[in-house]
Amino acid sequence: MKIHEYQAKELLAAKGIPVPAQILAVTPEEAAEASRHFGGPCVVKAQVHAGGRGKAGGVKLVRTPEEAERTAAGLIGNRLITHQSGPEGSYIPSVLVTECADIQKEFYLAITTDPETAGLVIIASAEGGTEIEELAKTAPEKIARIPVSLEQGMKAYQSYQAGTALGLAPGQKKQLVKILLAMYRLFLEKDCSLVEINPLILNGEGNLMALDAKVNFDDNALFRHPELNELRDVTQEDPLEARAKEAGFSYVKLDGSVGCLVNGAGLAMATLDIIKSYGGAPANFLDVGGSATAEKVTSAFELILSDPNVKAILVNIFGGIMKCDVIASGVVEAAKRTGLTLPLVVRLQGTNQQLGKEILKESGLAIIPAEDFGEAVKKAVDAAAGRIVP
Ligand code: GDP
Ligand code: MN
Repeated sequence: MKIHEYQAKELLAAKGIPVPAQILAVTPEEAAEASRHFGGPCVVKAQVHAGGRGKAGGVKLVRTPEEAERTAAGLIGNRLITHQSGPEGSYIPSVLVTECADIQKEFYLAITTDPETAGLVIIASAEGGTEIEELAKTAPEKIARIPVSLEQGMKAYQSYQAGTALGLAPGQKKQLVKILLAMYRLFLEKDCSLVEINPLILNGEGNLMALDAKVNFDDNALFRHPELNELRDVTQEDPLEARAKEAGFSYVKLDGSVGCLVNGAGLAMATLDIIKSYGGAPANFLDVGGSATAEKVTSAFELILSDPNVKAILVNIFGGIMKCDVIASGVVEAAKRTGLTLPLVVRLQGTNQQLGKEILKESGLAIIPAEDFGEAVKKAVDAAAGRIVP
C-alpha cells in the first residue's frame, strides 16, 4: 500500500526526522492561505501516489499567495502524468504547500527489503534528486547498498558507512545516524516495504532535512495495522483492482484485450504467458481461488467485463477442489446477467468436467468450447483479434 508524500513526512516527523513545515490544501484558496502563512514564497506539490512529479510539472516554487492559488487551481482535480503514473495519469486530490528549503545538496537515502540476503538494505547516493533513476542506469556504482541483518538490527557503523557514501562531514554523519535509525524503526514498526527520502538535503545551515518521502507498506502485513487504513486514498487506486480487493480476488489489471478468468495463481500466470506466446495480450490476471462459488464467478466475470479493453474472455479452469459444474453455472449466470456479447472461450478440465460441459451446451449461449489449454488460448487470442466470431 502506498501513501501520499504529506502522510509519509508526518510519519517521519513523528520519529524526529526534520522536514520543512507543511500545510495540506484541498482548494486553491487554502493554498493561497498557506502561502500567506509562510510569508509568500513556498513550494506547491501535487499529491499523487506516483514519483517523478517534479519533472512532470507537479512541484512548483511560487512567490506569492496569488501564484500559489493559480498553481493549485491548475493541479487540484486534474491528473498528473509522470513516468510512473501510466499514460492515464494520477488524479490530484490535493496539494501540499511547504516552506521553501535552501538546498545546498540533494542526496538519496532509502531502506527497503533485500531478497538476496532476506534482510534489509540501506541505499544511499550522494547524487540524489530527480535524476536518481537515470543514475541507477548510467552509474550504478555511485549508489551504495549496505545490507542490514534483521536478526542483528541496524548498527551505528552501517549508518556511518552510509554517511561516507554521501560524503558527509562528521557532524552531519551524526545527524544521519539519527535519521537512519528513525527510518529503520518506522520500517519495522509499520511493516514497510520501502522508506525512502529523495531528496534528503543539506540546507544552508548545514543540517540534513527530508524534502520528499515515500513510505510503502507490505500488503501482507496490513491486517496487523488497522490504523493504516485511514491513510488509504482510493482515488489513487485502480477502480477495478479496488473492487477486486473488496470481493476477495487476486486481480491485476493489464493492458491487453484477452480477459482471463482462471483458478489458481500458477495456472493464471501460465495462462498469461501462453497468451503472449500466441501473439495476444492479456487484459488481466485473475485468480478466482480454489473454492469459488457460482456467485463469486459471476462477480469475477462482471469485473472482467467492466474493463472496456476486453475483446474476448478466456475461462481456463482446472477442477480440483473447485468443480467444473460450479464454474459452468457461474459462467452461464454471469453471461446472461451481463448480456454478454463478447466471444467467450471456455476450457474446463477436471472434477465434473462432463457435467460442466453439458451445462454450457444447454445454456444456449454462443460459447466457443476448447478441449486443451493451447487450443483454448489460441481461440481466445484469435477471437480478441476478430479472427473468429462465435
Ligand atoms: P518528485 O519529483 O515527485 O520526486 O518530487 P520532489 O518533492 O522530490 O521534488 C522534486 C525536486 O523539486 C527536488 O528534487 C528539488 O530539486 C525541488 N524542490 C522541492 N522542494 C524544494 C524546495 O523547497 N526548494 C527548492 N529550491 N527546490 C525544491
Ligand atoms: Mn522526490
